[in-house]
Amino acid sequence: MSERAAGLCGFCRRARVLKSASGSVFIQCGLASADPRFPKWPRLPVLACAGHEPGEGEAVV
Ligand code: SF4
Repeated sequence: MSERAAGLCGFCRRARVLKSASGSVFIQCGLASADPRFPKWPRLPVLACAGHEPGEGEAVV
């Protein structure tokens, strides 16, 4: 998945990038567990988000 396809999540420090063994990529929002305003699995691309924090997300393989 390209960063453009992910929208803001592709450039967010709150994002956890999960990669499956088959190479599929999923993005999980790190704010979701503490704040119900944010979905655990954001619908991509996210174009506006109050929790967005510019930076690189955490990759989890
Ligand atoms: S805070 Fe917003 S932009 Fe960042 S990972 Fe969560 S949904 Fe995506």
